Amino acid sequence: METEFRRLPSVDRVLAAERLKQLGETYPHNLLVNLVRQQLERERLSIAAGNPVASLAKIVDSVFAQIQSLENPSLRPVINATGVILHTNLGRASLSQEASAAMDTVAKGYSNLEFDLSSGTRGSRQVHIEPLLCQLTGAEAALVVNNNASAVLLGLTALARRKEVIVSRGQAVEIGGGFRIPDVMRQSGAKLIEVGTTNCTYLSDYELAISPRTAALMRVHSSNFRLMGFTNEVAFEDLAALANRNNLPVFDDLGSGCFLDTTKFGLVPEPMVQQSVALGAGLTFFSGDKLVGGPQAGIIVGKRQFMDKLRKHPLARAVRIDKVRLAGLIATLVHYLKDEATTKIPVWRMISAPVAEIDQRARQWAQVLGNLAQVVEGETMIGGGSLPGGTLPTRLVAIGDKKDRNVAQVLSQKLRSQEIPVIGRISEDRLLLDPRSVLPEEDEMVLKALRNLTSGSRRA
Ligand SMILES: *Cc1c(COP(=O)(O)O)cnc(C)c1O
Repeated sequence: METEFRRLPSVDRVLAAERLKQLGETYPHNLLVNLVRQQLERERLSIAAGNPVASLAKIVDSVFAQIQSLENPSLRPVINATGVILHTNLGRASLSQEASAAMDTVAKGYSNLEFDLSSGTRGSRQVHIEPLLCQLTGAEAALVVNNNASAVLLGLTALARRKEVIVSRGQAVEIGGGFRIPDVMRQSGAKLIEVGTTNCTYLSDYELAISPRTAALMRVHSSNFRLMGFTNEVAFEDLAALANRNNLPVFDDLGSGCFLDTTKFGLVPEPMVQQSVALGAGLTFFSGDKLVGGPQAGIIVGKRQFMDKLRKHPLARAVRIDKVRLAGLIATLVHYLKDEATTKIPVWRMISAPVAEIDQRARQWAQVLGNLAQVVEGETMIGGGSLPGGTLPTRLVAIGDKKDRNVAQVLSQKLRSQEIPVIGRISEDRLLLDPRSVLPEEDEMVLKALRNLTSGSRRA
């Protein structure tokens, strides 16, 4: 082992290699020195583990690979053919042309973000979006923050700290990604009073729990699961009326937050923001990047008296929205104002796409793969903690080989390693690709990836 250590080249010898000398023209010398040192350290550990010393060429290759991986960001675009429209791991909503253009413009230069152009004095970033949200939802006031988790945290901290908030036991849920209502409640300093049972909560349960320490009643939209069978939840209307009789506010965490009537698209009903406001919610919380179809944001609409307290709370500054996403969200909301959501906002374009159109695209995709692929009936999920149990009919490209169960796995991996990775889902030894969660303008990229698959791996 000692001799192996001695055969390890010096830093200077590695740096003198022709390939690294060339890199020296592009990269600072001290970066190359650091990378070579780090690589030699890894080589020492490898030798200590009993491996033979690596060749100089191998060491140079590794340094080269390190630079490549630092320089080429690992975060990159993919095509979502999973059939889950709001796929949180794939970045949730894609944005409209108008929204991404607005973000680009604001990102490139200065803006009047917090500057009142008429008076020449300091302004608020919220003034650019509040009137739009009030117009769309009928609320008195609105506030936009980093995401919905921080919106709920801000609301509870500012209004219910050291007090009690009454929530149905069936709604003390985990949304995913570690967002659990009881934990957020604890973090805010509010005490969660769970009432009812897992499957049944009645108005009288809330009524009995009201005390002088109560700050609010709260509904949490159980957005990612559905209770079946013998269940009862109190209608929001009745909850709001009870709160009102007791001079208490009712908070509504809608999760996804939807402006359009989902039943018009053949989906199960998703509570709408306008309804929540109209039924008297003190504050309604929802995400910007779920069914709203905009960038990541937390949106709060409701009564001015509560919003004023939220605005003044120090946490509001800690969870504020950045200018780029603010611009994207405004552009997205304008689509609702113009009643053009279904033609402009990708999430709604996907939801409203007719099956006949998807069938046609699926056939085009399948054709590239010949007898490896079939078009079958299937279902698209909305995802992103909305419409639990709600799906849309679709057509899937099912790829696989009955004689070789590995084919689906192998092809799935190959599609993921394309220049623009295409992500599908595997079910019963078949790789399924759903054109509904892919925009038609991305079809060329899908076809290219599928053509790459067939060169070399085609089985007749
Ligand atoms: C998704 C969700 C959240 C968290 O929203 P983010 O915007 O992801 O922070 C909170 N509450 C409910 C009910 C949700 O569905």
